[in-house]
Amino acid sequence: MEMRKEGIERVERIERLKREKNAIILAHNYQRAEVQDIAEFVGDSLDLARKAMDTTSDTIIFCGVDFMAETAAILNPDKKVVIPDKGAICPMAQQLPAGDLLAAKRAHPDAEVVLYVNTLAESKALADCICTSANAQEIVNAMDTSTILFGPDCNLAYHAQKTTSKKIVPVPEYGLCPSHHQIVMADLIKAKEAHPRAKIVVHPECIPEVQDRADYIASTSGMVKICNEVEAGDEFLIGTEVGLLHRLKKEAPKKKFYPISTTAVCPQMKMHTLEKIEEALEKEKPEVVIEKEIMEKARKAIERMLEISK
Ligand code: SF4
Repeated sequence: MEMRKEGIERVERIERLKREKNAIILAHNYQRAEVQDIAEFVGDSLDLARKAMDTTSDTIIFCGVDFMAETAAILNPDKKVVIPDKGAICPMAQQLPAGDLLAAKRAHPDAEVVLYVNTLAESKALADCICTSANAQEIVNAMDTSTILFGPDCNLAYHAQKTTSKKIVPVPEYGLCPSHHQIVMADLIKAKEAHPRAKIVVHPECIPEVQDRADYIASTSGMVKICNEVEAGDEFLIGTEVGLLHRLKKEAPKKKFYPISTTAVCPQMKMHTLEKIEEALEKEKPEVVIEKEIMEKARKAIERMLEISK
């Protein structure tokens, strides 16, 4: 009871601080349930990048991992972007340091570079265009060259390769998301046996075998949209980080959702708590700060994506 009262009081203080500071909370679909519930907007990387550009708030409290908060800061140089826990570092983004990308560019001088938004700002600054899991296929097809350097996720590269005759070269060769790699075929077979009527809806960060067995492959917001559609049915096996289940159950309470793997948890996404959000609002830090030159170059690559993917 005491805990509950404390939680309600914290939520009230956060709401008051948001009004006083003209701040907005943006949260990714993988955030803790209570963080999603207090946010003005919950979405995937592409939704959040667009939302960050639209807001009239002075401060953005960004509940996602480092590269997402950096993207919001790059698109909003006049706003303060604050990430409640600076330790929320995406391991996939770390797999493509700028030096490795430069070496790959030297080895493929005629290729354009498309980077998944899950990359560091320094690497984005070296890209021709950014993509998200919602638009990777569209972006690759819109590029000018017949060979594309694509990183860091080799599974998203596999997904993008399906709709193009261009040659996609993954960089690094085996970049991946450790949380989505928890979702293996044995889990999928077991889940399908337990729920034979359920449609399989997965994220393109899943391994190729799981993608090939799915009824639908989409970004997290795309997965929510599919599950909300009547023709997709009322029972689903979900192949992504388990945080999405909260939003799915909230938006479609009459439908049934089962995670393919309950161990597909991203610990970095769970680092933001209500306590840390309150502190971030109070102190307006830790602020996301990016070097000006990197910011300007990275912005060009992100804006090219937003231009192509309207
Ligand atoms: S779910 Fe995977 S790609 Fe997304 S932030 Fe976590 S580690 Fe990075």
